[in-house]
Amino acid sequence: MTRGVAILGSTGSIGTTALRVLARQRERFRISALTAHSNAALLEEQVAQFHPAYVGLVRPNGGAGAWRTGPECLVEAASRKDVDVVLNAVVGAAGLDATLAALERGKRVALANKETLVMGGELVSQASARGGGEIVPVDSEHSAILQCIGSRPRSEVRRLVITASGGPFRDWPREKLETATLADALRHPTWRMGRKITVDSATLANKALEVIEAHYLFGISYDRIDVVVHPQSVVHSFVEFVDGSVIAQMGMPSMELPVLYALTHPERVHDAGVPPYDPVEMSPLTFERVRWDDFPALRLGIKAGRAGGALPAVFNAANEEAVAQFLDGRITFGGIARAIEGAMRSLTNRSADSLEALRAADCAARTYVKEMVAC
Ligand code: NDP
Ligand code: MG
Repeated sequence: MTRGVAILGSTGSIGTTALRVLARQRERFRISALTAHSNAALLEEQVAQFHPAYVGLVRPNGGAGAWRTGPECLVEAASRKDVDVVLNAVVGAAGLDATLAALERGKRVALANKETLVMGGELVSQASARGGGEIVPVDSEHSAILQCIGSRPRSEVRRLVITASGGPFRDWPREKLETATLADALRHPTWRMGRKITVDSATLANKALEVIEAHYLFGISYDRIDVVVHPQSVVHSFVEFVDGSVIAQMGMPSMELPVLYALTHPERVHDAGVPPYDPVEMSPLTFERVRWDDFPALRLGIKAGRAGGALPAVFNAANEEAVAQFLDGRITFGGIARAIEGAMRSLTNRSADSLEALRAADCAARTYVKEMVAC
């Protein structure tokens, strides 16, 4: 029997990668639902190829035919009876309700949309405990950690070491970083991704989101999660065990394998589409310390994670808004971290025990950044 998959954000970088992967796995999976935000033309092509029972477009510009429209389509797609696995590949906080809805209904969420775990980690954990759903990470670092830990208990894990490519500015001097252009920031050395995560990789805010994501996914305290720069993006992360043994997961920098593994875990299947690994071809593999003082967004995000409450949601929303402003040319590259820091300093940290509290924190952080930019 095939398993039904809903892809939320099917027109994006992860969404299109997933469809490429799933086109080779038709005996295991069928596409039950697809949603996009505004790219109706690409969505239409995908519908013609995969014939999903449900199609949602958040913001139609022109006719959407029989498709469902509006932001509710994400939750509708994630809640359907014919959907077993929800691949959440939406970018940003907009994906939260769908993750919660799928977990409440006992489904697997293959999670690329890390922002929603950062924003609502506690609520997401509660939703899966209540509904019996599970999260399997799509992020390559977390997929690596999952594979390295295997079935060993968390008490045997001493430390997680998350690798970071270092982004396009890894070896730029600090003075040059302030005025790095959008074109510079979008020139990622190893990964081709959507614009928001590409900028997050340049500021290292992406690594902060990933540290918080790892904390929630694996139940490991922040003291036991480290980050190391690894420019080749071949070692996807390390797990150090209490006896000192260190296990790494490696592979070519391609999202096809982590996307497929999130769907099939713990099974491994043929035809992942991954080019064969040649250690000589990929050598040398190098590792460097993080330049913490030059990439302040990383420290800020980890500080927010450690503080808990609504501060991770403030960090995430301030970052989303600041990146949007940078993409629109209204602030400099250095202004992104300053906006995040301002929002985290100015807004009181409250508890995050309800969706309303999270939304309020999210909204206050976005307003803070918009007003800061307008001044
Ligand atoms: P893209 O920008 O390429 O794609 C985003 C997708 O989400 C598109 O389908 C877009 O629709 C849709 N979307 C955008 N805004 C909304 C909204 N408000 N409501 C509903 N749908 C929306 O992003 P990526 O694929 O690069 O990233 C997606 C997620 O995966 C992010 O959280 C990112 O951090 C994470 N991730 C990505 C990796 C990668 O390699 N790309 C690696 C690891 C994690 P439309 O195109 O129609 O506008
Ligand atoms: Mg990653």
